[in-house]
Amino acid sequence: MFADLHLHTFFSDGTYSPEEVVFHGQRQGFAALALTDHDTVEGCAPTARACAAAGLEFISGTELTAEQDGNEIHILGYCVDVEDPKLLAEVGKFQQVRQNRIREMVARLNELHIPLEAEAVFALANCRAPGRPHVARALVSAGLCGNLDEAFERFLKRNRPAWVPKFKMSAAEAIALIHQAGGVAVMAHPGLNRADEVIPAMVEAGLDGLECFHTKHSTATAEHYLELADRFQLLVTGGSDCHGLSKGKPLIGTIKLPYQHVEKLKARAAQHQSSRPAP
Ligand code: AMP
Ligand code: ZN
Ligand code: FE
Ligand code: FE
Repeated sequence: MFADLHLHTFFSDGTYSPEEVVFHGQRQGFAALALTDHDTVEGCAPTARACAAAGLEFISGTELTAEQDGNEIHILGYCVDVEDPKLLAEVGKFQQVRQNRIREMVARLNELHIPLEAEAVFALANCRAPGRPHVARALVSAGLCGNLDEAFERFLKRNRPAWVPKFKMSAAEAIALIHQAGGVAVMAHPGLNRADEVIPAMVEAGLDGLECFHTKHSTATAEHYLELADRFQLLVTGGSDCHGLSKGKPLIGTIKLPYQHVEKLKARAAQHQSSRPAP
């Protein structure tokens, strides 16, 4: 039995609907799926329904953007209560930050005489948590860039002319937010950060796990983080980080996390939930 614990839908910057994600997950033979859209949990209820209809286990989740010692860190929150008022209020703030940032990125593009309109990005994104992939898709669909890679390389990557830094919560705040919502906090794709020195402080702040298995981790990278997880006594997770098609194929299926890790994750969530203050 296997799981994919890192998936996106069109509730953030993925292109699939919840039903499409579950369709592909079932086709790949997964026993369990977790949804981890950026700064929202809106997709969890429909994905849970689609999983139930397909006979798959569903694990609620989100991917929060945080910061530790100047590094952008993504923190996955699993088994969170998707109706937790504080979680909803906080992600609401970060959705507003994302929407304002789209306007700033479009203004920078306009200064470069790229005639994109913010409304075109919002119409295409059609979600509360828009991001750079939506700007890239809008540039391509307006014929202003040849493809998504070109949009990122020319304009949207860090330190490129239309890149706008995003206001972020601290990693400790993200971890605390997830815990108070009854969830388990996992550092996403540590191999993409190449900043292992931030891990001890996050462990100190209560980090529960490391996403050792990720599409963009080599076997050596996965082994390195398995060792770190062992050293810091952290849970091990993994997922494809599927945003839809990649090179013409759904990315879901590239990572098959053994189900034993899901059991440990759920046991940790049960511990956090039992120590949650009564509402
Ligand atoms: P944002 O949250 O707006 O900063 O956008 C981050 C998302 O953009 C990531 O989750 C990736 O899906 C995507 N992304 C980041 N860098 C690139 C890149 N160079 N090419 C394509 N997609 C990227
Ligand atoms: Zn994304
Ligand atoms: Fe991420
Ligand atoms: Fe992701």
